[in-house]
Amino acid sequence: MRRKLIAGNWKMNGLRASATHLVQGLLEGLAGAEPPCELLVCPPACLLETVGGLIAGTPVALGGQDCHGAEAGAHTGDISAAMLKDAGCAYVILGHSERRSDHGEADDLVRAKAGAALAAGLTPIVCVGETAAQRDGGRTLAVVEEQLAGSLPEPGPGQALVIAYEPVWAIGSGRTPSNEEVGEVHAAVRRWLEARLGGEAAAAVRILYGGSMKPGNAAELLAVPDVDGGLIGGASLKAEDFLAIARACA
Ligand code: PEP
Repeated sequence: MRRKLIAGNWKMNGLRASATHLVQGLLEGLAGAEPPCELLVCPPACLLETVGGLIAGTPVALGGQDCHGAEAGAHTGDISAAMLKDAGCAYVILGHSERRSDHGEADDLVRAKAGAALAAGLTPIVCVGETAAQRDGGRTLAVVEEQLAGSLPEPGPGQALVIAYEPVWAIGSGRTPSNEEVGEVHAAVRRWLEARLGGEAAAAVRILYGGSMKPGNAAELLAVPDVDGGLIGGASLKAEDFLAIARACA
């Protein structure tokens, strides 16, 4: 039985004061109760220490939004997986479509980053998803499978892995695929994982849906078979919205 994961991708938003306010709102909303899912927040790197300090000892986990594929060295402006781990992270988002488009990240780079994350003891959340043109061209499953094949690290024993299916056209747009369309992709991802990892290991991988998930549509999206949680952008910046999505897991 996979426990659902609701992960907040804060992207390039927040300063110490607003991040503190947001986390305080989350913790007040939880009121010491165990949430019906695993909760994760992924703030910008410079806020990891502030946010990590506030959520220490609570059911909210900490994650990074990216890491470098190398262990250490001359990579100005980059952050290693070990640095994220040292800052208290358990997860790191990799291959988000905004990294792929803003920074030209291709599958092989995402794969190197995922390998580095695993080596540092982090769980990578590897993002895949088609553009509007690819969906319109009937290529959604082919694109997603190609990204999985190119972006995932070589399988290894006990490997912790999360996949996020995020249609590029649904991110920040207020548009979502139909529940049937989401179910079709998630089922295809599960089948692909079964063929690659075997049934038992594939069954342990959580497949998140991401793209305009909000309190109003979360319950139906989270009820789709093989949707094991959500990667939430805009709605993770409001404590009440993020908690309402988490409650929709119940
Ligand atoms: C995201 O960027 O991962 C995302 C899902 O964004 P939004 O929820 O704002 O669509």
